[in-house]
Amino acid sequence: MRQPLVAGNWKMNGSRASVRELLDGIKHGIAEVGGAEVVVCPPFVYLQEVQDQLAGTAIAWGAQNLSTEGSGAFTGEVAASMLLDFGCKYVIVGHSERRSYYGEDDALVARKYAVARAMGLVPILCVGETLEERETGVTEEVVGRQMDAVIDLEGVEALQDGVIAYEPVWAIGTGVTASPEQAQEVHAYIRSRVAGKSTSAAESLRILYGGSMKADNARELIGKPDIDGGLIGGASLKADDFLAICRAAG
Ligand code: PEP
Repeated sequence: MRQPLVAGNWKMNGSRASVRELLDGIKHGIAEVGGAEVVVCPPFVYLQEVQDQLAGTAIAWGAQNLSTEGSGAFTGEVAASMLLDFGCKYVIVGHSERRSYYGEDDALVARKYAVARAMGLVPILCVGETLEERETGVTEEVVGRQMDAVIDLEGVEALQDGVIAYEPVWAIGTGVTASPEQAQEVHAYIRSRVAGKSTSAAESLRILYGGSMKADNARELIGKPDIDGGLIGGASLKADDFLAICRAAG
């Protein structure tokens, strides 16, 4: 039985005041969430505030990116050890915004996955196709290639230590959500691809859907057999909206 997981990706949003307010709101409603695991991923600079406010609660936290390097002369980078220092459990790797705006390719994303895993962080590996790729019928090829970069580097067992988030690029921040059937189809493909190499890894792997998930579509999406929760962008910035998704998952 896979525990549902809902992770909020705050992206580059917030201020000290708004982060405090958002955390207060989430903490206030967390008791009604039921069985879902809840995670927030703030910008790096707010990790201290998040750790101060969430330590000892049922809410976990993580980062949105990490360096492949351990320490040293890498200006602007943040190491896995630093994330651990601030109590992070999770780290997002390979978000489509990092792939498209910062040139992160499959090989770099796989190295980030490997470093996170080696350091004891739980990587959330984002995969997903663009609209053009969907329309030309190569969704499975793209998602398969993004998964294989990690599997080839680390072995299929590595996926047991992480989470996969299927995020169709055309659905991220657009208000256009994949239909539950469209999402389930790709989730089932992801699980079957893993099952081809390890049935135990496939059974335990949590696969989240991300892309304009909101309170009013979360229940139907997460109700599908291979959708184990959500990676939430915009709707994670308002406590009530985020908690409603968490309740739907729980
Ligand atoms: C995301 O950025 O991971 C995401 C799913 O964003 P949104 O929910 O805003 O589409």
